[in-house]
Amino acid sequence: MPDVIVVGAGFAGSVMARLFADDQKRVLVLEKRNHIGGNCYEEKMNGIRYHLYGPHIFHTKSELVKDFVRGYGDWYFYEHRVLGKIDGRLVPIPFNFQSIEILFSKEKAEEIKSRLLAYYEMDSKVSIMDLKNSEDAVLREFGEYVFDRVFLHYTAKQWNTDISNVDTSVINRVPVVIGYDDRYFSDAYQMMPKNGYNQIFENLLQSPLITVQLGVDAKERLQFRNGKIYYQGKEFLGHVIYTGALDALFDYHYGALPYRSLDLKFTYLDMNYYQPSAVVNYPNEEDFTRITEFKYLSREHFQKGTVILKEYPLTYDYQKKMIPYYAILNDQNLALYQKYEQEAKKYPQLILCGRLAEYKYYDMDAVILRALTMYEQIEGM
Ligand SMILES: Cc1cc2nc3c(=O)[nH]c(=O)nc-3n(C[C@H](O)[C@H](O)[C@H](O)COP(=O)(O)OP(=O)(O)OC[C@H]3O[C@@H](n4cnc5c(N)ncnc54)[C@H](O)[C@@H]3O)c2cc1C
Repeated sequence: MPDVIVVGAGFAGSVMARLFADDQKRVLVLEKRNHIGGNCYEEKMNGIRYHLYGPHIFHTKSELVKDFVRGYGDWYFYEHRVLGKIDGRLVPIPFNFQSIEILFSKEKAEEIKSRLLAYYEMDSKVSIMDLKNSEDAVLREFGEYVFDRVFLHYTAKQWNTDISNVDTSVINRVPVVIGYDDRYFSDAYQMMPKNGYNQIFENLLQSPLITVQLGVDAKERLQFRNGKIYYQGKEFLGHVIYTGALDALFDYHYGALPYRSLDLKFTYLDMNYYQPSAVVNYPNEEDFTRITEFKYLSREHFQKGTVILKEYPLTYDYQKKMIPYYAILNDQNLALYQKYEQEAKKYPQLILCGRLAEYKYYDMDAVILRALTMYEQIEGM
């Protein structure tokens, strides 16, 4: 028997497995897919690396996380830039002074920029909601424009609901920038793994104390009965780190937790480059939300051809074996999640970690930090 069982080999599970192994514990990792890496996993098409579950760009404010990931592979400096197709033009997103200058006449652009600077510091970031509710009529009108062109239809596509039902934290993820900073993220550390994410995961899980079993759904091996956990019929007394969906663990007993899913359409094109930046958002007319061109992310500029991805949002249905991508965070769904959480609490050895198990939106750095912090807490138990 191992000392610890980890379910899932994404960042949550792999970081946990590594930390336990470094503490001389024997770790068994069960992963139901046929690969490690969770949603950060990459494949190649005609030699070009792409992200099978959607583009993953690494960025963090945390020095701890930056130092941790650098311990498992080489990374290069990469600042992500996104364009959006607004009124037929490609403009930088988050919306900033450049976007204003492209979309408005010279006089109007000057007026908007000077009103913005009258209220906000240069290089600060403002929520679109603040602009929409501004006491200044010019800023209110500008706020309405950006809200309509950048947020309204994009949100309807992405979440299949009216924007008023979407958690404000989701809307505030893309602010308006007061100035010319056109980077998508402003974190101190922004980088991509030099040899891809797969290698980072291989290194994380590389230990004589870690056994990884692929293609194994942990549900086939683990039973949860009356506060006790059984592994293949025998009582298991160690920690079980679970990073999968919590409703699935308990057989959707209280009903399925709602998610958004995605239909990801990858295409190889026999051309050098398809678009002028790594990602172009399509907030309005098109059915897809964005196009990613992976060569920009992997820096494979020398490669012939290019791989692009169009993302079509979908309503998640676990019975159709879809992938749960984004938790739909609202009071009703969180109340449902709490029922499962109460169920999980009956098993003190069971630790829930990660974006599925905790029903949260975590970026990669946040999930790594979460795993590092949770491990400290388990050690302190
Ligand atoms: C489309 C998309 C784009 C994203 N882009 C970014 C980005 O640019 N930057 C960023 O920082 N973050 C991004 N993220 C977030 C990032 O994917 C997550 O932070 C990260 O993958 C979370 O890791 P995790 O280990 O919690 O979950 P996952 O990576 O989903 O790993 C969970 C693993 O558990 C396995 N599993 C589940 N149930 C079982 C079971 N019963 N038995 C065995 N195995 C099981 C799954 O197969 C999976 O491999 C993005 C997310 C999405 C959906």
